[in-house]
Amino acid sequence: KLHNTIQELKGNIRVFCRVRPLLSGENSSEEAKTISYPTSLEALGRGIDLMQNGQKHSFTFDKVFVPSASQEDIFVEISQLVQSALDGYKVCIFAYGQTGSGKTYTMMGRPGNPEEKGLIPRCLEQIFRTRQSLRSQGWKYELQVSMLEIYNETIRDLLSTNKEAVRADNGVSPQKYAIKHDASGNTHVVELTVVDVRSSREVSFLLDHAARNRLVSILKIGNDSSLRKTLMIQIVFFSRSVGKTAMNEQSSRSHFVFTLKISGFNESTEQQVQGVLNLIDLAGSERLSKSGSTGDRLKETQAINKSLSSLGDVIFALAKKEDHVPFRNSKLTYLLQPCLGGDSKTLMFVNITPEPSSTGESLCSLRFAARVN
Ligand code: ADP
Ligand code: MG
Repeated sequence: KLHNTIQELKGNIRVFCRVRPLLSGENSSEEAKTISYPTSLEALGRGIDLMQNGQKHSFTFDKVFVPSASQEDIFVEISQLVQSALDGYKVCIFAYGQTGSGKTYTMMGRPGNPEEKGLIPRCLEQIFRTRQSLRSQGWKYELQVSMLEIYNETIRDLLSTNKEAVRADNGVSPQKYAIKHDASGNTHVVELTVVDVRSSREVSFLLDHAARNRLVSILKIGNDSSLRKTLMIQIVFFSRSVGKTAMNEQSSRSHFVFTLKISGFNESTEQQVQGVLNLIDLAGSERLSKSGSTGDRLKETQAINKSLSSLGDVIFALAKKEDHVPFRNSKLTYLLQPCLGGDSKTLMFVNITPEPSSTGESLCSLRFAARVN
């Protein structure tokens, strides 16, 4: 109930800040500490202070997760949003931050360790559990998954079973992957693979398939042949574990969008609900503050900057209830338009690393998040 009141007061946009722990090998000395948490009662669990060159920058968010927060601690705070999607709301959860700050850890978790499962598998487990328990009340749910990647303002279908299509989707036909929104706010991406799912195991199978397709699509990246060659070697000779490096390369440059469409129908009351849950692992934000790229890298940098700053602009305009919301300035915001604003619900994670060498990037991320909060 309290949650609802806050929701009504604040509108439908939340920002959570998550600081990951220092990893082994990172500077953990006391004097290098740049992040602290205010102890005052009102800022408890919501404030974060960042020291840079002797100057303190303070921020407040809807929630701040300290490095010791577990994946379960995080999930507890978002499970209400998952319920909203089952109730027929459109929900977007973003992970924003520089490469290495914990976006993918937050969204996917660490494979192989159930305690470290991320939001995507946890959300799906909750959805399939709820679906089962609502059956006795006459509810039937149909669930459909799609996964895509946006790289250089181009959509790639990560669930395609056609390798050629994954590799050669650049400009094949202008109609392919065109984004269409109908009057009732349903989004259709032309020719995008959409899969009916019946269990969370099926979804993890699809997530694996998407990860492989992402690796295939990286071979298309620009004309940076030395990078491509390195990645090719990694993918071909080492597959999974070392493919991870290639995966990080790819994921720092593209947005990963996981979409679950939820259609519920109650046979006894004839009620109907249509919810959407979007989970988005954004491209690394570091380029927003860097320049000096050339050629293909420059094009890529511009595309990433454009889409991340457009996302900021859109959420900012929505939070300020401005009349004009610039959805059309990037593929990402246009794709998600029906799921942003209106009575839909948005949550942005801003992921931060406590590494002293990343203080500048962390400050940029906190400022970005503070603007939309
Ligand atoms: P990003 O996706 O933002 O580039 P990752 O999620 O890959 O960053 O995280 C970078 C590294 O830090 C990974 O090795 C990941 O396992 C680790 N990591 C991130 N967040 C946490 C956390 N909360 N607890 C433990 N390890 C983490
Ligand atoms: Mg990542």
